[in-house]
Amino acid sequence: MKITEVEAIWLQLPVVDERCDGTQDTLIVRVHTDAGIIGVGEVDSSPMVAKAIIEAPLSHAIARGLRQCVLGQNPLDIAVLWERMYQGTIFFGRGGAAQQAISGIDMALWDIMGKALGLPVYQLLGGAFHTKLRAYASNLFGATPAATYEQARRLVDQGFSAVKFGWGPLGQSEALDIALVQQARAGLGDAVDLMIDGGLAYDASTAIRRSHQFAEFRPYWLEEPLHPDDLEGYARLVQASPLRIAAGEQETTIQGFQALLDAGLDVIQPDVARVGGISRAIEIGRLTAQRRRLCVNHSYKTGVSIAASLHFLAALPNAALLEYCVEQSALRQTLTRQRFPLVDGFVAVPQEPGLGIDLDEEVVARYRVG
Ligand SMILES: [Mg+2]
Repeated sequence: MKITEVEAIWLQLPVVDERCDGTQDTLIVRVHTDAGIIGVGEVDSSPMVAKAIIEAPLSHAIARGLRQCVLGQNPLDIAVLWERMYQGTIFFGRGGAAQQAISGIDMALWDIMGKALGLPVYQLLGGAFHTKLRAYASNLFGATPAATYEQARRLVDQGFSAVKFGWGPLGQSEALDIALVQQARAGLGDAVDLMIDGGLAYDASTAIRRSHQFAEFRPYWLEEPLHPDDLEGYARLVQASPLRIAAGEQETTIQGFQALLDAGLDVIQPDVARVGGISRAIEIGRLTAQRRRLCVNHSYKTGVSIAASLHFLAALPNAALLEYCVEQSALRQTLTRQRFPLVDGFVAVPQEPGLGIDLDEEVVARYRVG
């Protein structure tokens, strides 16, 4: 089998604003083969930047577009092609947007292999420790504590047993922060797990103070309260905090995840559409398993990323939760024909060959801008 084409498809809603909602646009990758099998992947990046990294012509030996790195190659040689993409982009890559872009092609290659063999991707990764993951509803804080309370009530009514609130107005003042978390807990009741996403709002001293203030509302974890470069701050925070500390969504390299593990983080959150795809997400997940930490996906994109997340989490012994974005945008809700419904608080791992997803071509056509 040979790769005959790589398409980078930029999708965007008519209006994109500054909210931290990654479902307003996306980059979908389709890898075509001479066997007629087409693999699908997704990139979480700035879509136009990642599209350029895929489509760029050869500049010199270590400054190639990803398409050129894989065209004509055997799509089943996934590790070999991953290395070709990494080596081919050393000049502008080794992390960041190049690594994010590699994710989309890597995901599509696993989709192709699964379809070629008639097996779901998790089977290719060694099999399923889990056939379903407990989904936590992932959403932004409401504009006010009262709005946050209402959101919490709605999500409990939808059947979630865990809910995360983050970003939004958090970080504006101590009183507002405490009121937001208090109302989130009040809306959820005592039986539902509450996660707090700090959204880079604090320095280390403030995060230590907030983790003690939030403790009475019993959050399951406090996520990403610090700038991702502040590893010393994270090391101080995990020592001082009564709460689990989670991070990892900004990291794109193995070295970045090793540094988080060395800093003592409790919960490590690779995003399969940022870290270099399923090949790297499973590698990072196994590192976290060896060091007895929790591995939870980060994912705030479409059904393509949800499926890819389910497959790598299924294949990890130390995974139990699925970040499940509940944004109502058309790309999040309708791009894939599979809707990943919540059943008793859980989402099932796809059992169909490959990633187990189909794009709705009408939705692709409606939102395609490049
Ligand atoms: Mg987050």
